[in-house]
Amino acid sequence: MSSRNYTGRHYAGRHRVQQRRARLPRALSSGFVLPTAAAGVLVVTATGATVAESAPQSFDLTGQQTAMARTQESAAEQAATDIAERRQAASIQSAAFRGRVEAQDRAARAAKRKAVAEAKAKAEAAKRAKKWVRPIHIWNITSGYGWRWGKTHDGIDLAAPTGTPLYAMSKGTVIKAGWENSFGNKVAIQYWDGSVIWYGHMSRIDIQTGDSVMPGDQVGLVGNTGHSFGSHLHFEVQKETTADTPLDPVPWLKNHGLW
Ligand SMILES: [Zn+2]
Repeated sequence: MSSRNYTGRHYAGRHRVQQRRARLPRALSSGFVLPTAAAGVLVVTATGATVAESAPQSFDLTGQQTAMARTQESAAEQAATDIAERRQAASIQSAAFRGRVEAQDRAARAAKRKAVAEAKAKAEAAKRAKKWVRPIHIWNITSGYGWRWGKTHDGIDLAAPTGTPLYAMSKGTVIKAGWENSFGNKVAIQYWDGSVIWYGHMSRIDIQTGDSVMPGDQVGLVGNTGHSFGSHLHFEVQKETTADTPLDPVPWLKNHGLW
């Protein structure tokens, strides 16, 4: 049928036959996208007739629009891909960040454990340094402190064979190591709490004045040097570092848990 007949049939009986407006087939209405092959060759005439043309301008626009739509679709796909990639990169970065944080946490915990262990070791070392030990393992008191043979005896005597080891009693500093008249070979040590202890009649001295000592360090050997009648350790506790100010050793030994 012709487009004229088509139009007339629709408006027949309504006195609008002269109207030349044509309805477009749905395929040619705006918003309908033709298949690609048809897009370039169909055009709508002014009267609404559909004819074929070699280079229809109106469908060139549709072609451009299609291309634009494809470009937009491609851009949208690219954007989606970019978002996915960024999301993945962010996820990787986030994992890497968490990894770094966890590594830092581990390092911090390890450092804390190390510091605690070091502090504990230091405290234990300090405690060990301040413990008290006897000057000699053989504990055989043969003469006490006080009046003896018409004069005072300023210390106690501990009998032991010559060559028996003598030890520092705690952490301290050697203030004398050498010969001194009736004492023979003598060692004087001032300990960390201020106590001053003398050893006399030693057969050998193993330390020097100014040395630092720790509990149990060997400082020399029992002997029979100076004014002595038989091998023994003469043990004195002094009130002062320089003057001869003897104290009864027994209370001191009791106070230091050594009696
Ligand atoms: Zn003595």
